[in-house]
Amino acid sequence: MDLGIKGRNALVCAASKGLGRGCAVSLAREGATVTIIARGREALEQAAADIQAETGAKVVAVVADITTPEGRSAALAACPQPDILVNNAGGPPPGDFRNWTREDWIKAVDANMLTPIELIKATVDGMIARKFGRVVNITSNSVKAPIEELGLSNAARSGLTGFVAGLARKTVRHNVTINNLLPGQFATERLKNTMAARAKTMGQPFEQFFEARKNAIPAGRFGDPAEFGELCAYICSAQAAYITGQNFLIDGGTYPGTY
Ligand code: NAP
Repeated sequence: MDLGIKGRNALVCAASKGLGRGCAVSLAREGATVTIIARGREALEQAAADIQAETGAKVVAVVADITTPEGRSAALAACPQPDILVNNAGGPPPGDFRNWTREDWIKAVDANMLTPIELIKATVDGMIARKFGRVVNITSNSVKAPIEELGLSNAARSGLTGFVAGLARKTVRHNVTINNLLPGQFATERLKNTMAARAKTMGQPFEQFFEARKNAIPAGRFGDPAEFGELCAYICSAQAAYITGQNFLIDGGTYPGTY
């Protein structure tokens, strides 16, 4: 299936590793010109070279912290008129809300709610004028089912979800869609680090903890960032013009609800 995005410009935030990288690979394979952002230069430049070699697409790498105004300016300077915007950043740390200060809350809201909103604000009118736009926000399954120790994430991402729900109905008339992808547990660096910390807290050997978590997923495995990227590419396709304001769980069946 040709997704109809050959030659489109895609800005993919937080994309040297993990889910963002999975999205960048799939978009590049569809022929989009991809600009990828991350803070660490070495991994980012390696990712750009790998994606370019694998897909033949043009890949531009911009070293920037996307949660800062300077970082967003650098990203937009390299990709001033994105047709596709994938919003992503690192997630907030786990903890107990009794210990979180106002600064902790502001940091989480800044990274996981206001950064995507700022990037949408900077790009959506151009998309509307050009009559094509696809915005995908990487959020979390915690939007559907809160994760106890990730209160900062539950809250900040729910704020973004609420905002997007309203805006997505206003832009779709102009062939600009805005949707959220909600990952369950994907085998990325973040997942491994989070699990290692949790195993330590619980006094369990890492391997044992990791296996137990994996087996608790109905699919019997962690997700592959490549399959996350493929869903992202479809939501960004020409064919997906009638899908907006939606929250897509991709979690191997973990969410136990009927709806
Ligand atoms: P990951 O494997 O750790 O990759 C994160 C990527 O984002 C790296 O390329 C990292 O590079 C970049 N990044 C982080 N903060 C950034 C910033 N401020 N500015 C620019 N780039 C930044 O993480 P992941 O598992 O793919 O997770 C991506 C998002 O999905 C996170 O918000 C996470 O909470 C959420 N999520 C993940 C899962 C999962 O199972 N993996 C589940 C639910 C939600 P640098 O560090 O070099 O900047």
